[in-house]
Amino acid sequence: MPELPEVETARRGIAPHVVGQQIRQIIVRDRRLRWPLSKRLEKQLAGQSVRALRRRGKYLVFELATTEMIVHLGMSGNLRFLVTPLPAGKHDHVDWVFTNGTLRYNDPRRFGCILLTKHADNHPLLRNLGPEPFSDSFTADYLYSTCAGRRVAIKQHLMNANIVVGVGNIYANEALFRAGIHPRRAAGRISKARLELLVEGVREVLTAAIAQGGTTLRDFVGSDGNPGYFRISLDVYERAGLACKRCDNAIKRIVLGQRATYFCAGCQR
Ligand SMILES: [Zn+2]
Repeated sequence: MPELPEVETARRGIAPHVVGQQIRQIIVRDRRLRWPLSKRLEKQLAGQSVRALRRRGKYLVFELATTEMIVHLGMSGNLRFLVTPLPAGKHDHVDWVFTNGTLRYNDPRRFGCILLTKHADNHPLLRNLGPEPFSDSFTADYLYSTCAGRRVAIKQHLMNANIVVGVGNIYANEALFRAGIHPRRAAGRISKARLELLVEGVREVLTAAIAQGGTTLRDFVGSDGNPGYFRISLDVYERAGLACKRCDNAIKRIVLGQRATYFCAGCQR
């Protein structure tokens, strides 16, 4: 599933090709995404220029002349910018045709979405999202205030997009290991000093993933191959039974909130 680092990498790869460019034509081959594509999409978008391309959580927001377009990649979506035209494949559902190339949306499972709205930040999908993990609002003080009195497991709290966006399962596991916090610990029973380590841990793992994404950037603009999601070097995720890199205890696996959860009982409390 595309997570924040993949979406940010897609944004960085696509933006130089589309910002300042005019959409000449939209080709829709299948309207059945998570929500059916508006029948007016083609008409509303044709002729509009892309003023900016920003990211909010896992949503891409194309700022156009008179509207904003929200794109979410769902479970299996990807965007590629084709400098030279390629015949559309089975799951290539939408093309935005520019003078300098074509932006193509591919999504085998069709859980993604493409929506037009006046102000994306006010859209129901985006308006209740928590702060961006790299923003000045995501601090230990902030996290501490959201945890106060909460008995929910810190890992589930951290993965709640209303608290902070972009911390998917892999990153939550890895950030908690770095901070030395047990994933099942009640959110309200963690000191501010330890939450400070968690804030740092979240930023470190996301930074590492985005940095690694930079090396695969060309995949998002190339004419061949799949984008392929990238992974950081992992300390605990999918390492059940293997030795902890810090203390040699075996990494444990539990299921928490229906998600695979990995931790070291020696290092995390
Ligand atoms: Zn350990």
